[in-house]
Amino acid sequence: MLLARGDHRTNRHGNGTAVHGAHHGAFAEVPQVGRGAAGRRTCSIWATLGVAMLLEPHASPAHAHRVAAAHRTRRWWLAAAAASLATPGVAADDEQPVIVDQSVAGAQIELQFTPDFSAAQREHARLWVIGAAEAVSGYFERFPVPQLELLLQGSEGSGVVSGATFGEPSLHMRVRLGRDTTPAQYRDDWVLAHEMVHLAVPRVPRAQRWLHEGIATYVESLARAQAGLLDAAQVWRGWQREMPLGQPRPGDRGLDHTPTWGRIYWGGAMFCLLADVRMRQRGHPNRGLQQALRGVQRAGGDYRVAWPAERILAIADAAVGMTTLSDLHRDMKDSASAVDLAALWRELGVVEGGPLRDDAPLASVRRAILS
Ligand SMILES: [Zn+2]
Repeated sequence: MLLARGDHRTNRHGNGTAVHGAHHGAFAEVPQVGRGAAGRRTCSIWATLGVAMLLEPHASPAHAHRVAAAHRTRRWWLAAAAASLATPGVAADDEQPVIVDQSVAGAQIELQFTPDFSAAQREHARLWVIGAAEAVSGYFERFPVPQLELLLQGSEGSGVVSGATFGEPSLHMRVRLGRDTTPAQYRDDWVLAHEMVHLAVPRVPRAQRWLHEGIATYVESLARAQAGLLDAAQVWRGWQREMPLGQPRPGDRGLDHTPTWGRIYWGGAMFCLLADVRMRQRGHPNRGLQQALRGVQRAGGDYRVAWPAERILAIADAAVGMTTLSDLHRDMKDSASAVDLAALWRELGVVEGGPLRDDAPLASVRRAILS
């Protein structure tokens, strides 16, 4: 495991890309998010064999293959995690996970706590899950999938450490968190919302994972802000600070061919912002990426299925009656195209160190994205 707890999201940039496990199939990819040793967002671990590799960090891919094939039963991974935490002499009952069935926004989320949480700690975590699920449901109109198994694996201390979403062998999510995480830390967490946004997008071929991470990076802030968990100005300032990390550097060959941390996360997020602004500029301010992505949901596109980016974007475009996403994709996938972010912030009325400006030419677009 390369993930470690770091500081809050202010310093999450870097080259924290890591790939675990063998890649055996165009669509069998797993996004993972967490914080690296330097407080970076290191949500770039894509592991086909993620479950086995996470539980067996030193397993060779061959071993992981065997493990993955041999354990298809529900909750095996949890049982294994619980067993690894158990100490000799502990009664068998104490080693069992604690299951809490939670319905939220029309979906059923099965919370699977490792046995080391107290009842009070589980309750804090449960409320955090509800908050994140409601925020993401608000953005997408509903929770992206009808059912989810969510393993909450406790560790010493406080803070949300890492998260990962798996499409295989069945849809589930795993989050590692300090058992003493406070309500304030839960309220500030972005990891769980980021993972839940992944649920709303079909799995994509490896070269297109920037689209998945870009949507998760971009929408996570919007969903939390729309739910009142984050201030709008904070979102815009955060993007102004971090979006430049997504710009192409010398030697860049386009988003599909430049799998660096910056391009995957912030290059993908920049794609989303540009598309969102253009859609609202060309059509109606109230029809943008949010409405387009809801169209993908309505068409059955979520993490349970694997679609190429072209299909996702064509369906998203159709939902708002434009071709903005597909056009931008064509422009950015195979060639380096720097975005004039300074001009974009100016037009949107996002001023460094100052209040958001309502007299800017695209202020109505900015407000439509996020007041
Ligand atoms: Zn991610």
